[in-house]
Amino acid sequence: MTDLTKMKVAEARDALRAGDVTSVELTEACLGAIDAADALGAFVHKTPEIAMDQAKAADARIKGGEAPSLCGIPMGIKDLFCTRGVPSQAASRILEGFRPEYESTVTGKLFDAGAVMLGKLNMDEFAMGSSNETSCYGNAVNPWRRGNDDTALTPGGSSGGSAAAVAADLCLAATGTDTGGSIRQPAAFTGITGIKPTYGRCSRWGIVAFASSLDQAGPMTKDVRDAAILLQAMCGHDPKDSTSAELAVPDFEAMLTGDIRGKTIGIPREYHMDGMPDEIEALWARGRDMLADAGARIVDISLPHTKYALPTYYVIAPAEASSNLARYDGVRYGHRARLSQGEGINDMYEKTRSEGFGAEVQRRVMVGTYVLSAGFYDAYYNRARKVRTLIKKDFEDAFAAGVDAILTPATPSAAFGLGEMQDADPVQMYLNDVFTVTVNLAGLPGVSVPAGLDKQGLPLGLQLIGRPWEEGDLLNTAYALERAAGFVEKPAKWW
Ligand code: GLN
Repeated sequence: MTDLTKMKVAEARDALRAGDVTSVELTEACLGAIDAADALGAFVHKTPEIAMDQAKAADARIKGGEAPSLCGIPMGIKDLFCTRGVPSQAASRILEGFRPEYESTVTGKLFDAGAVMLGKLNMDEFAMGSSNETSCYGNAVNPWRRGNDDTALTPGGSSGGSAAAVAADLCLAATGTDTGGSIRQPAAFTGITGIKPTYGRCSRWGIVAFASSLDQAGPMTKDVRDAAILLQAMCGHDPKDSTSAELAVPDFEAMLTGDIRGKTIGIPREYHMDGMPDEIEALWARGRDMLADAGARIVDISLPHTKYALPTYYVIAPAEASSNLARYDGVRYGHRARLSQGEGINDMYEKTRSEGFGAEVQRRVMVGTYVLSAGFYDAYYNRARKVRTLIKKDFEDAFAAGVDAILTPATPSAAFGLGEMQDADPVQMYLNDVFTVTVNLAGLPGVSVPAGLDKQGLPLGLQLIGRPWEEGDLLNTAYALERAAGFVEKPAKWW
């Protein structure tokens, strides 16, 4: 029955409704695939009992003639989402033993739509990273390998477990979150699709906060149609998140016509980075031709503040993180350090936080605290906020000039080897986000679509950036690109 796990959400939905398969069968197949894939380190908490209960309930609903879009679809959930009664650790030691009393709005919506939770997925600690190597569980592994070389590669990060699980057909789809690229970069590294919606489209309630003005949840799926189906179920207004938009949710799937004739696609000059591999340039040029062949008008555009995006992001994100992570003090959640005789409350905070947080999280807390400190606030944090406004304005100007979507590479390289960045300057790792952070800073929707393989046989992705709230239109352009690229390759099974 292993082929069942290869199904896409849309196929499984139709097969479930037609009675050709049951959710119990699909779920059992996924649970079997998950147990056989421990070498990928994708699932960090398996929830087979919950999955089977939900699958049985879904089958009963379908039998009763009621089958919402995700009824009976087995999925994985990133560890950043609070799931009631189930470990939700954000891949951090500091949240060891934390089992939320509540369900995040996004997972609650998925379950209301009938989704089945197979377990929690690996990620970088508190979603800080681009390789899944900062996880307290150890890294996830990319199911793809270079040619005939068996070097273990990163699935990307921070949603690396989600990407590995979907690419290896351990589940039909997964949730991710994206603060600076954490849905789109791992999607690109593993040959799957991922969309970060407009800031405010998905509720952040119940998602462990990293940088609140940048964080958004989104789906990671086997194709664009599945991304549309999942996004539809995940988003919508939530009074529990004050930044959640009070806007109606369109039928994203119904907007997938593949017709992009007359659309204007911008190619931003500043995204031609020094030292970018020729293959990435070539893929980008091919993407441009594919969209032109599909009837879009291609224009060169300028986003002049692009070069400031990474430094701006790496001031704002750590600033917000340092404030958000102040709540992990050993009193309220998870881990608490043991004290020796004579030690007091300050020792408890210090010890708990130094034992509970990994090196990258500690680095971000320190950077964040520094840029928010009285003496440096104006020089760093306020300056970064101003530059952020300029970056956003670059996009607004492009859209005002008639651009419907912007095409860029998703990442500056294919997946790299695990451990390869270990001794590098941390900034080397931050460079991974060069094409994605601008989108979070501007609050825009961005989607990564697999578009080809590099010389070593690794997947590469293209990114499309859309106008705010126009995810439907953006997904349709992505759908046209997907059809033209015709990417169908799968990793060869070794795990
Ligand atoms: N890689 C980026 C970072 O480390 C983005 C992470 C994310 O989107 N969660 O901050």
